[in-house]
Amino acid sequence: MSKRDYYEVLSVSKNASESEIKKAYRQMALKYHPDKNPGDEEAEEKFKEAAEAYEVLSDTDKKSKYDRFGHAGVGSGFGANGFHMSMDDIFSQFGDIFGSAFGGGFSGFGGTRQSRRRVHRGSNLRVKVKLSLEEIAHGVEKKIKVNKYVKCNSCNGTGAKGGSSYSTCPTCNGAGQVTRITNTFLGQMQTSSACPTCGGEGQTIVNKCAACAGNGIVKGEEIISINIPAGVEDGMQLSMSGKGNAGARDGVPGDLIISIQEQEHKYFERDGINLLYDAYISFTDAALGSTIDVPTIDGKARIKITPGTQAGKVLRLKSKGLPSLNSYSTGDILININVWTPKILTREERETLERLSHSPNFEPSPTGKEKSFFSRMKEYFSN
Ligand SMILES: [Zn+2]
Ligand SMILES: [Zn+2]
Repeated sequence: MSKRDYYEVLSVSKNASESEIKKAYRQMALKYHPDKNPGDEEAEEKFKEAAEAYEVLSDTDKKSKYDRFGHAGVGSGFGANGFHMSMDDIFSQFGDIFGSAFGGGFSGFGGTRQSRRRVHRGSNLRVKVKLSLEEIAHGVEKKIKVNKYVKCNSCNGTGAKGGSSYSTCPTCNGAGQVTRITNTFLGQMQTSSACPTCGGEGQTIVNKCAACAGNGIVKGEEIISINIPAGVEDGMQLSMSGKGNAGARDGVPGDLIISIQEQEHKYFERDGINLLYDAYISFTDAALGSTIDVPTIDGKARIKITPGTQAGKVLRLKSKGLPSLNSYSTGDILININVWTPKILTREERETLERLSHSPNFEPSPTGKEKSFFSRMKEYFSN
């Protein structure tokens, strides 16, 4: 395991300008920022790697040494004296690069990082919301009770009892990290990990709050009102920023992720923004013509069956389907016409039909359209 080339780390060429390097680093830092990738160690490594590369390539003197001598030129090879940046070094570097680029959206970010305390981010919460097609068609406000971690009231989320303060962690002297040097066949290797005493915060609480055991959060619940836009689909996820679990020790809350589940409908099958409906008409209605009622999302609609309607004909109720989530269009209701063949016949009906069966008009003469109906039936039965 050797260090990657700094230009490669930032994906820039050796001739990249100062502003190109800065821009590349901004993108990397944004992508791998720990607040965006909580608990992801690989992202954290990438984040550190990019910060280190930027530290060198943004400094004219270090850059020229690196260009001539590689990692050895900037003392960043392996070993006890290895060049190592802590998270705080990285964050303090941010001020001049990002300015107010994050609008305060990221915790512990930007030049305003005054305390060395790490800001905890609460975990994301996931909930499922079941919706009927009617609710999906119009959009709906759902109020749900969510069990989650909330800020501890006894200590106002600080984890410290009665306003007692923090003191520097004796194990790591406030660094938040402990460094271990081990001898390997490659030479000395330096590894850093979060301090076990303070969990990486660099500080410990003098007097822990009893209600939350110093965590600043307790189990609780919240009624959350979720506005679901019209047109959502099964499996979609909506995210509500800051409505997840509260962050420990006055941290920032996680997000609430809402997965949409669509309930089966009594009549309709959904196909994107269109609704499919299977209508059955009688054999005589198909031959003589008729009007039938079909359901819609908001009631009923009356449609005309022209004389000589074949089974498999698809009729369309324009704009009676579902609204599109991303545009102003609305789908249709597609009505698949099925002809109901009587299963039980009286003697009189049987005799009438037998008489009619000799009529040449009762002989099927499929045109192109009806063939597609047959092939559809074949497809239907082969599934
Ligand atoms: Zn508390
Ligand atoms: Zn510590």
